[in-house]
Amino acid sequence: MTSEPVADPIALTQALIRCPSVTPADAGALDVLIQALEPLGFVCHRLRFEAEGTPPIDNLYARLGTAGPNLCFAGHTDVVPPGDLAAWTANPFAGTIADGKLYGRGASDMKAAIAAFVAAIGKRLAAKGAPAGSISLLITGDEEGPSINGTRKVLDWLVKQGEVMDACIVGEPTNPHYLGEMIKVGRRGSITGHLTVHGTQGHVAYPHLADNPLPRLIRMLAALTAEPLDQGNAHFQPSTLAITTIDVGNPASNVIPAKGSASFNIRFNDEHTSEALKEWIRRTCDSVGGPYDVTFHVAGESFLTPPGHLSGLVADAIQRVTGHRPELSTTGGTSDARFIKNHCPVVEFGIVGQTMHKVDEHVSVRDVERLTDIYVAIIDGFFAADNVTHESVSGKA
Ligand SMILES: [Zn+2]
Repeated sequence: MTSEPVADPIALTQALIRCPSVTPADAGALDVLIQALEPLGFVCHRLRFEAEGTPPIDNLYARLGTAGPNLCFAGHTDVVPPGDLAAWTANPFAGTIADGKLYGRGASDMKAAIAAFVAAIGKRLAAKGAPAGSISLLITGDEEGPSINGTRKVLDWLVKQGEVMDACIVGEPTNPHYLGEMIKVGRRGSITGHLTVHGTQGHVAYPHLADNPLPRLIRMLAALTAEPLDQGNAHFQPSTLAITTIDVGNPASNVIPAKGSASFNIRFNDEHTSEALKEWIRRTCDSVGGPYDVTFHVAGESFLTPPGHLSGLVADAIQRVTGHRPELSTTGGTSDARFIKNHCPVVEFGIVGQTMHKVDEHVSVRDVERLTDIYVAIIDGFFAADNVTHESVSGKA
């Protein structure tokens, strides 16, 4: 028997919640983690990144062991703002427990999962000793913010250090209603377009002297939304295009405006790439004609870790602890898995997400304990198996 300290996942979640780490503030959250990880034998690298026009962000890469394979747990300690404090039943940064629920900003998204993973490592070490390989944590303070000085830069740093991850579990809250309901094995991509159609301003009574851009804008938007982008496939729901705003800002009823603009967002599956969508959007607007310009912001490409060894061992661990066989899903918003998938197979599994980003965010204390047991089973399953490194990642990044 060994005498490694075993962290209590509930107390550790509370300690993390008591750090008001609203992006970009760290507020001591990484120190709490380092203090839990170093006694377990982890070598901790605190990584501060900054870029022009963005606040500096603290991140953490911690590794136990030097051999491969390296199982990485990824997550974020930053949280969204609590909003109206008066709307909360208790202080969002107190970590209050009432009726079996642990309250606080970040409880669900995603401090409880980080605490559960650290506690799981302690349990594993106490029960079976160090695994034949390495366990690591990649924790960022910039997931809820612009995600510029976070996971992406940590991954670049890892490559420079020659660090290799063989599989990654991202602890985002993936379960809609109950623990064990859902694993994420991929995500849709996201592209936002800002379209401006140009014309010539003039008097509404003399339209031949003006060129109204608005009928063209309407026709372009109609053409973009006329047909479904696809029908979805075995792993993805159909892609969607949502017009988010149409702006002319014309206060006069007797003036034809010089321009009109609109924005839209496409959540796309792995039948598209952002580049192909940009081309399709330009072609569609060209078919209407007239002067316009369009700019794009791509938040991420779609990706899929094909259901296989990694998702199988995670699903097995979940079923053993909860009795539920989880759905393998690609629904929902983006996460830092979109960066990690370029480095190794990645699946996401965390706590129940029902209250994330909401007032009175909370998790079930029992769920945090069961999530800890699931992570122990994942660690045991990973290091009992072989060939994890042979799994491939597909995607059109
Ligand atoms: Zn999150």
